[in-house]
Amino acid sequence: MGMLDEYAHIVGEDVIHQLRQLARPLAGKRVVHVNSTRVGGGVAEILDKLVPLTRELGIDCQWEVVSGEGDFYACTKGMHNGLQGNSVRIPENLLRTYEETNAQNAERLRGQLESAEVVFIHDPQPAALLHYCPNRTGKWIWRCHIDASHPYRPVWKYLRQFVSSFDASIFSLPSFAQPLPNPQYIVPPSIDPLSDKNVELPAEEVAAVCTRFGIDPQRPLIVQVSRYDRFKDPVGVIHAYRMAKEYLPSLQLVLAGGGASDDPEGEVVLEEVRIAAADDPDIHILLLPADAHRTINALQRQADIVLQKSTKEGFGLTVTEAMWKGKPVIGGDTGGIRLQVVDHHTGFLVNTPEGAALRIRYLLRQPQKVEEMGWKAQQFVRENFLLTRQLREYLTLTVALLHGAQDRIELG
Ligand code: UDP
Repeated sequence: MGMLDEYAHIVGEDVIHQLRQLARPLAGKRVVHVNSTRVGGGVAEILDKLVPLTRELGIDCQWEVVSGEGDFYACTKGMHNGLQGNSVRIPENLLRTYEETNAQNAERLRGQLESAEVVFIHDPQPAALLHYCPNRTGKWIWRCHIDASHPYRPVWKYLRQFVSSFDASIFSLPSFAQPLPNPQYIVPPSIDPLSDKNVELPAEEVAAVCTRFGIDPQRPLIVQVSRYDRFKDPVGVIHAYRMAKEYLPSLQLVLAGGGASDDPEGEVVLEEVRIAAADDPDIHILLLPADAHRTINALQRQADIVLQKSTKEGFGLTVTEAMWKGKPVIGGDTGGIRLQVVDHHTGFLVNTPEGAALRIRYLLRQPQKVEEMGWKAQQFVRENFLLTRQLREYLTLTVALLHGAQDRIELG
């Protein structure tokens, strides 16, 4: 069975049929995606599935990776932080390394990139490649996965000279975008329903995770999965839990986050969380390794309600993941959470711990509401935030770019 058939089981034959239809005018065309890593991080995770799926649709889709030395990554990390608004000063010599590294990678990839019909360049790392491929024949698209809504100006000014030459740019949310001379498209992120993080799990595996962490499967459970970051407001979650627990004494809370060793601020926040939790045996503060995808999957599945009480958020993939598992989400009224949590339908948007507590009580008293909202949440993700939707948008965009200004495109 091909991958497309596996997805057809989840999203329906119609969606796959539409993908095939969109892909027909692109049959045999060469599309190349370029990023800077094959493993680790959301971009690699998506490309890992997106590229083979595109190939199965008859498009000659390739995935190339740029590589460099330490200074190159120091520079691109600085760019990443700068795009997110940190005032990072990137020394001139690092910028020269960035350019040289892109020039060297262009040397290696030039034949392929200059002859490709479409090139997707992901994030800042390979953004200068276009400058070193002067004889390109295809359309080049800069795909920015970063929240560039308030970039540090000097960093953006430097990068803009490269990304301005692209034929189009893609941002994840309208609010993440920056003015550019090329047409801009908005393509929100997506999750892969067949990944370890999201795939259906056997009941025994979920039960085993509960046993391992001392969670009572008979009692109500609320869960927040997040790095220990102030903007995720884990302490606010504890306050909300406390207020709700006064009325629902059997309530349990799981806060699951990653190891904080490379993030000094994470350690501080984790300590604040531990102090706020005090000695409550029904609060489980978990530190999980980065690859604990099935564990997180199980915790999200065991939850009655998932919280994502962020005060600032990019898109909020944890919200998508929880909704896909049929859970209502009580989320902070911010960023991409607003796009996913349809207030009173797929969950509730809240601004305070009090608001969250009120919604927790409301929902846990009405299991049929939990069920109904969870079902709607899952449908909403099925229609809007699965990998196949992202693929559809990339295909549509590609067809449109290759057809230039034609105002009518016939699909076979
Ligand atoms: N995640 C994880 N382990 C953790 C915390 C988070 O694997 O300890 C995952 C989570 O399931 C989600 C991603 O990391 O897929 C976090 O993405 P999100 O957009 O929610 O927040 P970010 O961390 O990017 O601000």
